[in-house]
Amino acid sequence: KAKLNGRDQFCLFQPSFRREVDDHGRLLDEVGIGLARNQFEVHYQPIVDLRTQIVRGWEALVRWRHPTKGLLAPARFMAALMDPKASVAIDDFVLAKSLLQMRQWLDGGIPVTCAGVNVSDAQLKRPDLVPTIMSLLQANDLTPDRLKIEVLETAFVGQATKSVAATIDRLARLGVVSALDDFGTGHASLIHLKQFRVERIKIDRSFVANLGKNGYDQAIVRCMIALGRDLGIRITAEGIETVEQLEILRRLGCDCGQGYLFGRPMHPDDVPDFLVRWHDGAAASLLGQADAV
Ligand code: C2E
Ligand code: MG
Ligand code: MG
Ligand code: MG
Repeated sequence: KAKLNGRDQFCLFQPSFRREVDDHGRLLDEVGIGLARNQFEVHYQPIVDLRTQIVRGWEALVRWRHPTKGLLAPARFMAALMDPKASVAIDDFVLAKSLLQMRQWLDGGIPVTCAGVNVSDAQLKRPDLVPTIMSLLQANDLTPDRLKIEVLETAFVGQATKSVAATIDRLARLGVVSALDDFGTGHASLIHLKQFRVERIKIDRSFVANLGKNGYDQAIVRCMIALGRDLGIRITAEGIETVEQLEILRRLGCDCGQGYLFGRPMHPDDVPDFLVRWHDGAAASLLGQADAV
C-alpha cells in the first residue's frame, strides 16, 4: 500500500505490482488463519543409512491441509516461508508439533531416532531461538540429540552472519546439531564450512538426479563427499529415486540418503507401518538390488 504523500507518490506504481502485493498480503492472512484453525500438518520422510539401510532419522516437512485446495506442499505457499513473520510462525508450529510427535512415538514404542526440522533464515536469526528450542525439548522430555536442524546457505550470507554462526555453535554445544540443506545451490562458499559448525551437509537433489547420466554432476557429488570426509562432516544425499543413484552414492562413500526410493514424506499415522515393512524386508530388498547393479 503506497502512501500518497511525500516522495512516495512519484514511484512508478503499476497495477500488476498492486496485484502481487495484494496476493502476498492475502496469502499471509490465509496462512495465519490456517495456523489458527489447525489446518497445518507435519509429514515425515525417512533418512536412511546407506550402508546398513537403518532409518537414521525423519525430516519434518510442513503441509497445509487447505479447506478448498487440498493438501498443499510448501511450493504452494513458498512466499509465506520466505516472509520473516509468517515463516517464524510456521517454523514454531513445526518445531512444537514434531517434538511432541517424537515424544508420542517413543511413548508408543515406535523406534524413531530423531527429527530433522527445517529452520527459515528469519527463525535462525531470532535472538530467543536457542532457549525456545531447549525448553521445547525439556517440555517433551527429549534429549537434544532427538532434534537436528536444517539451515539454508542463504542464512550464512548478509549482516547477521556472526549471530547465525553463534546460534549454530550454541545449539551444537547443547547437543542439537545442524545440517546445511540444499548444499551447492545457494550463495555459500566453501569458507562457510570453516566458520559454521555444521555436522552434516545435505547434497541438493538436483545433483543426485543426474547421477549415472551426467559426468559433471557425478564429479561434483564425488567432491562434496570427499570434502565432507576430510572435514569430518557427514553427508546426506537428497532426492534418491533410483537404485542406480543409490548404488553410485554408496560406492562414493555417501553415508546417508533420503528420497522417494526409500519413502515419500508421509502422514505421521503411517510411520509405524512403514517401519514394520522396512524391517520386514523392504530395506534388504533395496540393498540386494543395489548390490546387483
Ligand atoms: P528440503 O528441506 O530440501 O526438503 C526436501 C524436499 O524434497 C521435500 O519437499 C521432499 O518432499 C522432497 N523430496 C524428497 N525426496 C524426493 C525425491 O526422491 N524426489 C523429489 N522430486 N523430491 C523429493 P517439500 O516437502 O515439498 O519441501 C520443500 C521445501 O520447503 C523443503 O526443502 C524446505 O526448504 C521447505 N520446508 C518444508 N518444510 C518446512 C518447514 O517446516 N519450515 C521451513 N522453514 N521450510 C520448510
Ligand atoms: Mg530440509
Ligand atoms: Mg534440501
Ligand atoms: Mg530444498
